[in-house]
Amino acid sequence: MLSKETQEKLFPTLKKYFGYDTFREQQQEIIESVLSKKDNLVIMPTGGGKSMCFQLPSLLFEGITLVISPLIALMKDQVDGMNANGISADFYNSSQEKSEQLAIFDKVIRKEIKLLYVAPESLQLLENILNETHVSCIAIDEAHCISSWGHDFRPSYQQLGFLKKILPNTPIIALTATADKATRQDIIQQLNITNATQFLSSFDRANIELEVRPGNDRIVQVLKFIREKPEESGIIYCLSRKSTEQLASKLQQNGIKAASYHAGLSFEVRTQTQEDFIYDKTQVVCATVAFGMGIDKSNVRWVIHYNMPKNIEGYYQEIGRSGRDGIESKALLFHSYSDVIQLRKFTEGASNKEVQIAKLERMKQFSEATTCRRKILLSYFGELLAKNCGNCDVCKNPPEFFNGTVIAQKALSVITRLKEKEGAGLVIDVLRGAHNAMVIDRGYDKLKSHGIGKDISWRDWQQYIIQLTNQGYCEIAFHKNNALQLTNFSKKVLFENEIVSLTRPVEIKEQVKAQKGATTKKPKKDTLFERLRKLRQEISLAENIPAYLVFNDATLKEMERARPMCESDLLEISGVGQRKLEVYGEDFIAEIVSFSNEKIDKRKKNDTHKVTFELYKEGLTIDEIAKKRNLKPTTIFSHLAKLFTDGEDIDIYNFVTKEEVETVRKAQDKLENPPALKPYFEYLNEKMEYFKIRLALTIIDKES
Ligand code: ADP
Ligand code: ZN
Repeated sequence: MLSKETQEKLFPTLKKYFGYDTFREQQQEIIESVLSKKDNLVIMPTGGGKSMCFQLPSLLFEGITLVISPLIALMKDQVDGMNANGISADFYNSSQEKSEQLAIFDKVIRKEIKLLYVAPESLQLLENILNETHVSCIAIDEAHCISSWGHDFRPSYQQLGFLKKILPNTPIIALTATADKATRQDIIQQLNITNATQFLSSFDRANIELEVRPGNDRIVQVLKFIREKPEESGIIYCLSRKSTEQLASKLQQNGIKAASYHAGLSFEVRTQTQEDFIYDKTQVVCATVAFGMGIDKSNVRWVIHYNMPKNIEGYYQEIGRSGRDGIESKALLFHSYSDVIQLRKFTEGASNKEVQIAKLERMKQFSEATTCRRKILLSYFGELLAKNCGNCDVCKNPPEFFNGTVIAQKALSVITRLKEKEGAGLVIDVLRGAHNAMVIDRGYDKLKSHGIGKDISWRDWQQYIIQLTNQGYCEIAFHKNNALQLTNFSKKVLFENEIVSLTRPVEIKEQVKAQKGATTKKPKKDTLFERLRKLRQEISLAENIPAYLVFNDATLKEMERARPMCESDLLEISGVGQRKLEVYGEDFIAEIVSFSNEKIDKRKKNDTHKVTFELYKEGLTIDEIAKKRNLKPTTIFSHLAKLFTDGEDIDIYNFVTKEEVETVRKAQDKLENPPALKPYFEYLNEKMEYFKIRLALTIIDKES
């Protein structure tokens, strides 16, 4: 049991060091269990908030907490994060100089460190320290690495069993995002923590919006997607090293700060790329799956799968790298037939080929689903979602079914005519009546069914054929050059008039012209969030810590909403703890105050227009309004011009004639649109009054 004294410290510690007011699901129970010195196994999805489960207890324990972590990059990041929160933490690994290591030893012995991150291979070196200092808790991060069942086995993890032997009374907390039973069992056995309490959190990451699109014109779609989010960090996963490079260079050509990342690059290049991404210097990383493991960056706002992943585990882990801060983020998956074929090829020769193919099949089903995608994902992990999620493309845009029997009959009869020997591409060519070399060589243009599907576009046929295969009306013979073949169900459609339901293919609006090479970006909005983000970026550069460790996006969003203008209000914001208040508080408050003042000034200006408008509507003349408001008539005219531009009902031609507008228009052409009024005034021989010129220009501007 936890002492009352410790119990009472939980929330104040959470607020003081992390700035949060509430625990996330299960965190409190886990922390209480750790503090009661029990062993624990924690399974939580990526971004679920695992670190808190050992970081917070470390502050309440007498001695040091050891954190075993496999990735050096991840260690540094976590330590930076801890330090930013005012917690003394450090790391110890083989990348450090001997002198650095000794300095850390010293700090440990002098009890100046609460949390020490260690790579498993460096642990033996620390053994003597373990005897000299009091280790209060051992956290084993990425604990699945211990299991050869897992997808990320690391031999150095297998020695960790010795910890329980030499420190039998020190609680161990093992944490991972990998859920399956065999791995869980293995972790417990190997760590000798058979009495561990297991905590299984929900795998739902409701803040990630899920979307699947057909993979046509991917590059165009990707460019449009990124342009709509000019400041947001994202990762694009590709199947091959080459495609990461091609895609990154394409994005660069379009003015996007992008880089590629894959195992073929040197260690230095990879580290630099990762760091530039963490520090928001690179917006987009095009990567093979290798990227992201060691990254805790909480403000990754989106993940795109340029190619289909091999299985749902991989997909879920990768999309989990977005939105760790819990605010809206997006996962977009491109689904293409050729990817499936490619991925099947990869399974050839694998010892567990059957398993791999089955997993790929589930992935394919997910991509082609016509029901809530999150339900499918969670059910894959053994979780039942009671309601549709409302945050996936299927929920947002439920498919429209229609009677597609004739379409199916046309496709199946062409497959029959082609003797079940040709792949989808040629089947569609024949349906559409193409006269290309292949069609003519093989005499398919002579077939009666050549061109029976002319009325349907190539793209739509592709979609329909995918749907027909999904529903079992035809199948792909992977071992025979991916030829489309008939099934038992085909006959029902061809000869028994079985009704086939199809859904309308998704329209890709991005098709419209002009995308090639166009670099127009959405202009940045002048919002408080943008200003705070900029301030955060400046601090990040000055202090050399990643921007999201200054404050995460969720915290900035809340500042934008609540607009705290004094220290005590700022401290109320989730994510603002004691140290961050002291170090960054003043800057952020100043930014919020100055932003708010600007807005008030702007509003005042708008208000003065409104007063003029009210008087105008009452029927007062310009001179009367000016007199009443103690302003110059020219000022009132400028108000009217503004009101007119804003679409208010102003009879502008009462003050300037159509002819005068034309005169000004001509002057504008001649003068090549000068920025001031004076050139007009002079050009028109000083005969037209300034206010008329202004009104005429307002009209011309609005018309264009
Ligand atoms: P995991 O290790 O499970 O992938 P992290 O420990 O990196 O996840 O936590 C993900 C994010 O959630 C971090 O930005 C962290 O600050 C935030 N977080 C953790 N606990 C809380 C909480 N109780 N309230 C708000 N945010 C939290
Ligand atoms: Zn859904």
